Amino acid sequence: MNIFKLSQKKMSKIGFRLTKIKDTEPINALSFIAILFLDIFVLVNLFIGLENHTDQMSKPSEYIPQICREIVIQDSWSAESRIRKLSSYLLHYDRRYYKKKLDTKVKHPICERIIDGFDDLKINKELIEIFKEREKLQKKYITFDNFQKNLNDEAKVLLTKIEAIDKQINDNDAVKQFWQIIAEQRNFSAELKSDLRKLNYIFPLKKLLFEMLFLLPLFAVLLWWNSISFKKERALQSFISSHLIVVTFIPIFITICKAVFEIIPDKLFKELIDFLESLKLIAFWHYFLVVLAILVSLLVIYLFQNKVFTKKRLIKRRLIKKQCVNCGKKLLPNLEFCPFCGEKLKITCGNCNEETYKGSEFCINCGERME
Ligand SMILES: [Zn+2]
Ligand SMILES: [Zn+2]
Repeated sequence: MNIFKLSQKKMSKIGFRLTKIKDTEPINALSFIAILFLDIFVLVNLFIGLENHTDQMSKPSEYIPQICREIVIQDSWSAESRIRKLSSYLLHYDRRYYKKKLDTKVKHPICERIIDGFDDLKINKELIEIFKEREKLQKKYITFDNFQKNLNDEAKVLLTKIEAIDKQINDNDAVKQFWQIIAEQRNFSAELKSDLRKLNYIFPLKKLLFEMLFLLPLFAVLLWWNSISFKKERALQSFISSHLIVVTFIPIFITICKAVFEIIPDKLFKELIDFLESLKLIAFWHYFLVVLAILVSLLVIYLFQNKVFTKKRLIKRRLIKKQCVNCGKKLLPNLEFCPFCGEKLKITCGNCNEETYKGSEFCINCGERME
């Protein structure tokens, strides 16, 4: 058997499904380009739409923001370090070119008070100036090494100035209130920790569900449109809807893959890759990816060939409805040729040499599968 010829035949068959509307109606180059543009346009829009859609959700990093994790879970805002920490957050925010006025994302109730408190501080111009002054002095102070810090008069003066500013900051009413909030929210450490752990598992699933809410209705509508246009033999509509089904399937497949990869712990992958690397067999990982890609393509092509608009499906439907397999006109039983288009309606079975209907899946005499 000539494998090359066989695969060539198969490829041209697949190409046929994507490039021809019907046997008799090859698509011209311009229409093909138009449909290609439609495919790309829809695909791009789906991805942008998907992003905007999921952007409405609170990500784990937004639901439990970094500052809240540091304060409540890591407990790294001690009395000694809290001014330094607050300074870096406030000045980082102040220097941002684009300042988001209002963060509308939902926050964890434990974090909410902290974020609200911080929001009050970051718009406090007077306070920001104090922190800027402190940073200036601090920068100068750290140019001295530890030995000089103790002896050098200039360093001593700087330190006294910084300590005076720290006192001023600690005496500030807004800051006092913030320290109070921090002290209170720290008591919920265990609770927030367990919520965060849960969130890391649940979020990918929730996100997948949310994404499917956007993609599946469209996919369902396209399948419905395809089946209607197929039944009514609207070749062009069948053709376009088939294209769009495949196009819509791409983001669906990608989001499912992403969710699976997010749910499977990163550690598992890391260990697997480390293991393969240690054996100098990292190539296997890429083999695996290639095999996965091939399997998925096969699945997509199979779906496209068998479930979407195909000639086989059309012929089967016409046989059931006692129509001519070529032109679709209703026929009287047991004709040799179609009276409308001249199509030969019967063929000889290669197994039993008896006549059977053209387009039937099995021979009506011996039950052998037909080509
Ligand atoms: Zn006919
Ligand atoms: Zn037969």
